[in-house]
Amino acid sequence: MKYADLHVHTVESDGTYTPAQLVKEAIQRGLSALAITDHDTVGSVAQALTEARETELEIIPGIELTAQQDNQEIHILGYFLDYQQQGLWDKLRLVQQNRVERVYKIVENLKKLGVELNAQTVFNISGRGTVGRMHIARALLLDGWVNSTSEAFRKYIGDNSPAYVCGFRLSVSDAIKLIRDAKGVAVLAHPYILDSDELITEFVDYGLQGLEAYYPEHSQSQVNFYLDLAKNLGLLVTGGSDFHGSVKPDIKLGTIKVPFELVEKLRFAKKS
Ligand code: AMP
Ligand code: ZN
Ligand code: FE
Ligand code: FE
Repeated sequence: MKYADLHVHTVESDGTYTPAQLVKEAIQRGLSALAITDHDTVGSVAQALTEARETELEIIPGIELTAQQDNQEIHILGYFLDYQQQGLWDKLRLVQQNRVERVYKIVENLKKLGVELNAQTVFNISGRGTVGRMHIARALLLDGWVNSTSEAFRKYIGDNSPAYVCGFRLSVSDAIKLIRDAKGVAVLAHPYILDSDELITEFVDYGLQGLEAYYPEHSQSQVNFYLDLAKNLGLLVTGGSDFHGSVKPDIKLGTIKVPFELVEKLRFAKKS
């Protein structure tokens, strides 16, 4: 049997693996395909494709867009998108600028709480790609303000914590449109986080094409529920580990993997 992990982050967002390291690890683990799905960037896709050239591993160009509906954070995965498309890069550049501005706002909030963190420390950790709260958490850990990144979220930057700032987010309908305009297939990531599953039918009206039924946080009954729902709504099914490297140490590459036939269905959905 051939398997694929369809949800993977690199150093371009908040993962700790480079594309080269990912390709090597995926081959070692016997995977046949890997989708690179960084938060709000396709910056690692080209390098991953290059690294996997002349190997048995297929790299699927992907993304995980941060979106919002009714004050709820929703993640939309995009697969097989034309990752070099200019319109996509233009929009993502705006999102990146907003993320940088948000780091300065969170640093201001931390200062008011007596935590003197330099924004540059955060940017040194994040590098050239998407900057976010995970990098702030790592900077707080590096400078000794917390003993773990989870403590950083709990005390300072978690959704309900005192230094939290909500970033600019695409609407779900804009996120789906951005993916589809780039000829990609739009899939709802980790649907268990939704307050109400009724939102899914609304997302289908926006052009959603699939559900990430297989996910580390999903119980078997949740997996079954989303498989049924996908069938009833005529949606594709995907799954993946949401691998982030050492910042999510319990999750290994391929912890969740799906049969390769699901990749073929995604590929077909792009064409048709
Ligand atoms: P951002 O997109 O900058 O708001 O950061 C979101 C990322 O922060 C998510 O992908 C999670 O990996 C991480 N995150 C959010 N809340 C928590 C939390 N309470 N504990 C650990 N990580 C979190
Ligand atoms: Zn992440
Ligand atoms: Fe996510
Ligand atoms: Fe993810």
